[in-house]
Amino acid sequence: METIAVLGAGTMGAGIAQVAALGGYRVMLYDINETFVQRGLSTIYKQLDEGVIRSKITADASAQAKSHIVSNTQLEEIAHADLIIEVVPEKLDLKREIFAKLDELAPPHTIFASNTSSLSINAMAGATKRSDRFIGLHFFNPAHIMPLVEVISCDFSSDSTLETAFAFVKSIGKTAVRCKDTPAFIVNRVARPFYGEAFRLLGENAADVETIDLLMESVGFKMGPFKLIDMIGCDVNFAVTQSVYNAYFQDPKYRPHPIQQRMVESGRIGRKVKHGFYKY
Ligand code: NAD
Repeated sequence: METIAVLGAGTMGAGIAQVAALGGYRVMLYDINETFVQRGLSTIYKQLDEGVIRSKITADASAQAKSHIVSNTQLEEIAHADLIIEVVPEKLDLKREIFAKLDELAPPHTIFASNTSSLSINAMAGATKRSDRFIGLHFFNPAHIMPLVEVISCDFSSDSTLETAFAFVKSIGKTAVRCKDTPAFIVNRVARPFYGEAFRLLGENAADVETIDLLMESVGFKMGPFKLIDMIGCDVNFAVTQSVYNAYFQDPKYRPHPIQQRMVESGRIGRKVKHGFYKY
């Protein structure tokens, strides 16, 4: 595998493109317009520069990585990559539509992967005629730092596709964990009550945002639930909560909280807009 296309240059797409470029792959970063793709590129450049300042990577590696990434807004061109990683918003219809289009454009050997946090890999693979070459590659936020990647097989993913995916994850210095296609996979499933109970505590006025975060951090969590949701994006967190709730046929255990909806509707979606549960 030589060429990777990353479709969606937002929070996660930028980080994934960065680690793939640092791993020596030729990366095409795609978004719907030049403004978005350039915003993604400038995030990558900033993160690479910070990596050099903090001695996490050498100046040479940073320069090489920058030279490996090109921006692109033509789906026809990026479809020729060996691996396409989709990183667009958490909406099944949108993802299915994109994969169906890509399936018409991509050569037979191209492997399709989704970075979805919770949606069905089978449902996305079903929009294509290449379910044997379809997988989930779930990176964690921030993708250029977090070591874990869940490699999710759909019911039809072939052994060779999974082997290629594991080799790719290893080659970019990450740790791959095999998952089956179940709503929210492993990590996000386990994390649901972490967010859900924090919202319930807040909704009952049991404690405020700062207190809940501070308490969770004091018992060893790296970030409290609200700081983490601000980093993930309240919009992304809400979309994932709704998708898991619906995937389990409205099991009350996963019910979203009205506070989540209010945060999204009022535009307080987190760090990316400098305002969420906290101001940045
Ligand atoms: P984001 O909103 O930061 O970025 C999404 C990007 O997709 C934007 O740049 C947008 O312009 C682009 N986009 C929208 N429609 C598009 C289209 N038709 N074609 C190409 N690009 C398009 O979102 P994000 O946080 O990067 O999340 C993206 C995916 O990654 C979601 O499926 C999400 O669940 C998953 N994910 C997010 C996190 C997280 O912590 N934010 C962690 C793991 C996985």
